[in-house]
Amino acid sequence: MDLILFGPPGAGKGTQAKVLQEERGLVQLSTGDMLRAAVAAGTELGRKSKAIMDRGDLVPDELVVGIIAERLEKPDCAEGVIFDGFPRTVAQAKALDTMLAGRGRKIDAVIELKVDDEAMVGRMESRVRENPGAARADDTPETLRKRLKVYRQNTEPLLDFYRGQGKLVTVDGMAPIGDVSAAVTRVLDQFATAS
Ligand code: ADP
Repeated sequence: MDLILFGPPGAGKGTQAKVLQEERGLVQLSTGDMLRAAVAAGTELGRKSKAIMDRGDLVPDELVVGIIAERLEKPDCAEGVIFDGFPRTVAQAKALDTMLAGRGRKIDAVIELKVDDEAMVGRMESRVRENPGAARADDTPETLRKRLKVYRQNTEPLLDFYRGQGKLVTVDGMAPIGDVSAAVTRVLDQFATAS
């Protein structure tokens, strides 16, 4: 089963992806984590991406599609993947469809974690306040607002793309973590019995 966890910065995609990884044995692929690892390792990809990420813009499609293509080759991805933070543009979504089709696979479900923008900013600011050591370079209030704007402009249109494919399911991302996980699990069980 191949899934996409969808939602704005701070919606809890990573948290839910980790729960699913443990419960279902699916591999979590977070382009944000992969790009941060490239920055930390000082690779060419990292050098190209750092300034873009620090200001809250999107890394070019060909770079992120390239890292996903490479990662999907690995044997641990054969049974299915949870995409977290990817795709973020319609071009990325189309490239993903092509990559999966080449393996006889397709996206089974897209789970949107629906949250309130202002609550997101508050949630992330308190996360940074409580644990400043873990804050990312792009966790400043200005950059967070920029990331939300980029999400609305470039990524949200993807909802229609997946709604058109009949794959979009929306879950209340403002609920407590355990309730969100339970809702996500219900959705997956439905898709599993339907397919
Ligand atoms: P968040 O969901 O909190 O914004 P991520 O860890 O998913 O954080 O992404 C951090 C940054 O990495 C983004 O702001 C962007 O610069 C870059 N990035 C991650 N995934 C993508 C992607 N699919 N396309 C373009 N840029 C990406």
